Amino acid sequence: MPDLPTQARGPRLVLLGKQGAGKGTQAVRLAEHYGIEHLATGDLFREAAAAGSDLGRKVKSYMDKGSLVPDDIVVGVVDEQLHLDDRAAQGFVLDGFPRTRHQAEELDRMLGPYQLDLAVDLDVPTEIVLHRIAGRRVCSNCGALYHLDNPPESDWTCDVCGGEVVQREDDQPEAVMRRLELYEMKTLPVIQYYRRAGILAHVDASDETEEVFKRLVELVDSYFDPGSRAL
Ligand code: ADP
Repeated sequence: MPDLPTQARGPRLVLLGKQGAGKGTQAVRLAEHYGIEHLATGDLFREAAAAGSDLGRKVKSYMDKGSLVPDDIVVGVVDEQLHLDDRAAQGFVLDGFPRTRHQAEELDRMLGPYQLDLAVDLDVPTEIVLHRIAGRRVCSNCGALYHLDNPPESDWTCDVCGGEVVQREDDQPEAVMRRLELYEMKTLPVIQYYRRAGILAHVDASDETEEVFKRLVELVDSYFDPGSRAL
């Protein structure tokens, strides 16, 4: 057995849920609350596409159509991210990954001894996510999220970084329907996978952000005691 760290660490979490369930919003807050890394594959891909890197060129056409990026590309990116700064050991919240059963198996393999604490499914009825996505706007520079009902202070300029706040290409209605169908088909097996592993929890995420966040923290705290969990 290799020597394993003995100091306290943060939780290792996966957030699951349909597009618009609030994964991104809640993951940012959980990361801040627990002092862990927020890893969002969608954000990583959008950044790569905006920068025009090799990775960006490979993923852009899949994303614009609302299709899934092939597993080997996604797994490679997550593997690299989890190994930066000892993140796998220290704790993280994954948002947008895993999205297929194969990705879930690959995640277990990448984590090795540092297994997940909890996979949380954010439950929201489809009518509500459709409204959330139709009004969703995102900063093209830093990824901060807004909504038509909750715009930035001044004229679609990001409050955080001053970037332009826009609608995502894949938030257009046709791509949204495609992403929701894909979610049903590909991601439900991921939910089953974590149910069988005994680490799945559900949270009703149809309420206000603040209320959902409180529920999430209560849930994570009830599973995870930082003082007693070294590995
Ligand atoms: P959403 O979940 O709302 O569709 P994301 O920002 O998580 O949005 O992802 C945007 C796009 O990035 C997806 O539609 C897909 O093309 C790609 N993507 C992100 N994560 C994955 C993943 N785990 N597997 C395959 N494709 C992914």
